[in-house]
Amino acid sequence: MGRIVRTISEDASVVCSAIDGRDIAARIEEIHKTSAVCTAALGRLALGASLLGFGLKGENDSLTMRLAGGGPAGTLIAVADSYGNVKAYVQNPVVEIPLNSVGKLDVRGAVGTDGTLSVIKDLGMGEPYSGQIPIVSGEIAEDITSYLATSEQVPSVCALGVLVNPDLTVAQAGGFLIQLLPFAPEPAIEAIERNIKEMQSVTQLLSQGMTPEDIAMRALEGLNPNVLDDFEVNYKCDCTKERVERALISLGNDQLDELARDEVTEVKCHFCDKVYHFSREEVLALKK
Ligand SMILES: [Zn+2]
Repeated sequence: MGRIVRTISEDASVVCSAIDGRDIAARIEEIHKTSAVCTAALGRLALGASLLGFGLKGENDSLTMRLAGGGPAGTLIAVADSYGNVKAYVQNPVVEIPLNSVGKLDVRGAVGTDGTLSVIKDLGMGEPYSGQIPIVSGEIAEDITSYLATSEQVPSVCALGVLVNPDLTVAQAGGFLIQLLPFAPEPAIEAIERNIKEMQSVTQLLSQGMTPEDIAMRALEGLNPNVLDDFEVNYKCDCTKERVERALISLGNDQLDELARDEVTEVKCHFCDKVYHFSREEVLALKK
């Protein structure tokens, strides 16, 4: 299981959420059979969505991040609830490209930089709120920072990292998101800048045994931070047979007739490894 911890500065002007999402990234690899660079890309997007979703107020609120950069991985989607639980999907899970110029998994190369990052917040009332920005980096954390600055006018610092072992299992995965409120005083901003400069990468910090709490406290060092909350987070899919039925209905009568040629129709959830079976009679009963 993963863990997400939020800390707040004494003057309440700066908030930091940090996540240990190794198990979430491991589930992504297990479900989608992703290649290393896709595990890193989808893992980063999922952890970013988790950190942003965790900030939603309502119990049933959800947040969807859709990254479409025109790269070989195709479109990536992550959906998080307000507890930071998340599910994710990538169009092309297996992309094999060389490491980038600094010898790391080339997430930007897999995602592409010609497209947009969309964030849709479903706050349970009326039309969902949605914002979209052009991709600025393709490395994902910078794109989330750009989204927050442009669409929500919140200055922030985001770091996301997924370290993949040679056997494709996940060694470490985590991230943090620091958000500054409009009244954050200059010394607080300077302290954050100093901390960020001194801190190693998230996967290095996790490898050294630091917990999300340690990381979230370290990021706000000098600002007398306190822990605000601390939750378990998981890769979690909320699919049900009813939802799959609705998706089948949306295919239309002709497609349903086509499917009913088979004795049993098997539908696999895009987000998890769950398989739903529909008998011919059940498929035909969905016709309108
Ligand atoms: Zn599912």
